[in-house]
Amino acid sequence: MKDNVEQPSRLVDINRLQLAKIETLPDGGVRIGALARNSDTANDPLIRERYPLLAQALLSGASPQLRNLATDGGNLMQRTRCYYFMDTTFPACNKRNPGSGCAAIEGFNRIHAILGASEQCIATHPSDMCVALAALDAKVQVKGPKGARTIPMLEFHRLPGTTPQLDTNLRADELITSIDLPPSPFNKDFHYLKVRDRNSYAFALVSVAAALDLNGQTIRGARIALGGVAHKPWRSLEAEQLLNGASPSEQKFAEAADVILRDAHGYKYNAFKIPLAKQAVVRALTVAGGAA
Ligand code: SF4
Repeated sequence: MKDNVEQPSRLVDINRLQLAKIETLPDGGVRIGALARNSDTANDPLIRERYPLLAQALLSGASPQLRNLATDGGNLMQRTRCYYFMDTTFPACNKRNPGSGCAAIEGFNRIHAILGASEQCIATHPSDMCVALAALDAKVQVKGPKGARTIPMLEFHRLPGTTPQLDTNLRADELITSIDLPPSPFNKDFHYLKVRDRNSYAFALVSVAAALDLNGQTIRGARIALGGVAHKPWRSLEAEQLLNGASPSEQKFAEAADVILRDAHGYKYNAFKIPLAKQAVVRALTVAGGAA
């Protein structure tokens, strides 16, 4: 709004709604109110004990000042940092102005997508929190005039396709009320790796949320989600399956990385992200497995 990308005719302040609680659910999971602040969530004892991957991702996002104010619901609704989207002096941006073209495809596209992009938009989703939520199978609870519904995290954000102006599947008249996390075995062997141009207050070039459920030297379950590479957090169920039943090893992790990046496509300035993402996946899984 400060840059005039959005010019709403009316704003509704929802800060006084009682939606900031973090509490346990009867199934052993945890419900995070949509208005919980990023820093409160990252430091909450329940989150630190049961979902430390989420705490790590939250603490790698933005700066302390921003995390103290930013809500988790707001974090879900972040829009891309594509330079051409943020700068209204560029006329061509299908996300800002549908049908106007995409300045990034032939422009300076260093921070742009390598997976799931379309001819209409190659923007990336900027959140760290959402990458961990995708890995942890979170569910977004929303409410609107037609009642309440649940949107699985993997379906909350959209790929650009022919409608890049739509970032999420939240309807215009719906409000996010909470983010629910199911019980999870992924609280011991995990790592959130964020690769960025500087160590603070920068968006990810590539990030990886990796978690392993280990039984001795056997992987019982794996979670891998990537940020900075697509229009939404990019989780690969196929790569996770590949690790099931295997022993943690650099070779196996490299195979998983190859599966994730198999269909990657680089543009003029961002092709470096493909090998970077592969190495980041191997590194994050290696640290998660305790071998680094
Ligand atoms: Fe706009 Fe998407 Fe192209 Fe960026 S990548 S200029 S957000 S259409």
